[in-house]
Amino acid sequence: MSGARFVVQRHRASRLHYDLRFEIDGVLVSWAVPKGPTLDPAARRLAVHVEDHPVEYLLFEGVIPSREYGGGDVIVWDTGTYEPVHTDDPAAAIAAGELHVEMHGEKLQGRLVLVRRGTDDQQWMLLHKHDEHAVTGWDPEDHPRSVLSGRTNEEVKADPDRLWRSDAPADRASVSLVPEPLPTEAIDELAALGTHGTWEVFGRRLKVTNLDKVLFPGDPPVTKRELLAYAARIAPTSLPYLRGRPVNLHRFPDGAGSKGFWHKQRPAHAPAWLGAWDNPDADEDETTTYVVIDLDPGERTTWEELLVLARLHRTALEHLGVTAGAKVTGQRGIQIWVPVVPGYTFDDTRAWVEGISRTVGKVVPELVSWKWEVKARGGLARLDYTQNAINKTLVAPYSPRPAAGAPVSVPIGWDELDDPELRPDRWTIRTVLDRLESVGDPFRVLLGAAQELPELT
Ligand code: MN
Repeated sequence: MSGARFVVQRHRASRLHYDLRFEIDGVLVSWAVPKGPTLDPAARRLAVHVEDHPVEYLLFEGVIPSREYGGGDVIVWDTGTYEPVHTDDPAAAIAAGELHVEMHGEKLQGRLVLVRRGTDDQQWMLLHKHDEHAVTGWDPEDHPRSVLSGRTNEEVKADPDRLWRSDAPADRASVSLVPEPLPTEAIDELAALGTHGTWEVFGRRLKVTNLDKVLFPGDPPVTKRELLAYAARIAPTSLPYLRGRPVNLHRFPDGAGSKGFWHKQRPAHAPAWLGAWDNPDADEDETTTYVVIDLDPGERTTWEELLVLARLHRTALEHLGVTAGAKVTGQRGIQIWVPVVPGYTFDDTRAWVEGISRTVGKVVPELVSWKWEVKARGGLARLDYTQNAINKTLVAPYSPRPAAGAPVSVPIGWDELDDPELRPDRWTIRTVLDRLESVGDPFRVLLGAAQELPELT
């Protein structure tokens, strides 16, 4: 058994705890330790013996969708090898109610002892022996970073690399959320072309023309070449949100602000990264994979008021325990997306959003109007749950908008609703890639987080 692996994951679920797991006979035998393991020999920690986890979970670091078992965020707080002491059969030692192990981790070193308390199978005690690795007063919360990534739980939650689907088979439960980057030569080749030519990108040869045509006013103006470069660079991030959905491309042949026309194509045929999209699977059946809460400011709505509405929805969704994401539209509004499992009709999702929005509307009746009241109370914000319908068009994540400087619809972290710098058109095609580089894509967690909608009571 010498050299079997252990892991301690710092797990923020409904409550913060540390999961101490030993690899034994092909599974991870696990204890949840609310206050975490310690090197302090004076400390006695409660450790709750919980169900075995699959070995595939050993180095999992990322997020678990809110409504799944253990929903929250997880870091690999410590890992390494361990040796059972006084036995070569740790499973038998656990069955007998006492396990001694020598830990060889980055943080945990020396002798740990797990002892079952009384006749309760679940309640155990964890302690560290008085040995040369013991440190009086040592607190795991003083050492909060992952030994894998150096990140804290908060940082992983804000930009997770992986998502764990506890309802999937173990070998497929850990889902990558990191897009494959575009090779940089493609952008260099585009920059090197004249006003037209053949551009090879994503394994396709595209005939490109009028590359220096100005499409968006700005300083300097945004050319077609710059828009194409943005589209290619953002594609790995944005395409997962478009896959399998009908896409609307709104083309402005003479640049943003000119008369445009709508052009609807299947993504397989359309350069999908350019456009907005409408509700998914619309041509197949009238079910949906997302719920949309559209916070649409009226003429009299200030940005501060819109933020009030967004924060109230944040509170409501948190209270319901659903995984949801917010994004600024690149124009004036904020949208909230809630991924759902297959089978919901638009009638279902519309009714659910109506329930939430009516609750929020009661809190701030002075700020909102309803669709049928627009004439009477014009200028107020609309909580337009009717957007949950077939053939409604929604701006896609990272889609540019037809306005000066090419602003972009950008997913934001929920905390950013409290950022005084936040604006609905804060980012453009020139700045959003740097933002992605530094804070990642807050919508990634929605991919694969399909969930059932909780009953509204
Ligand atoms: Mn846990």
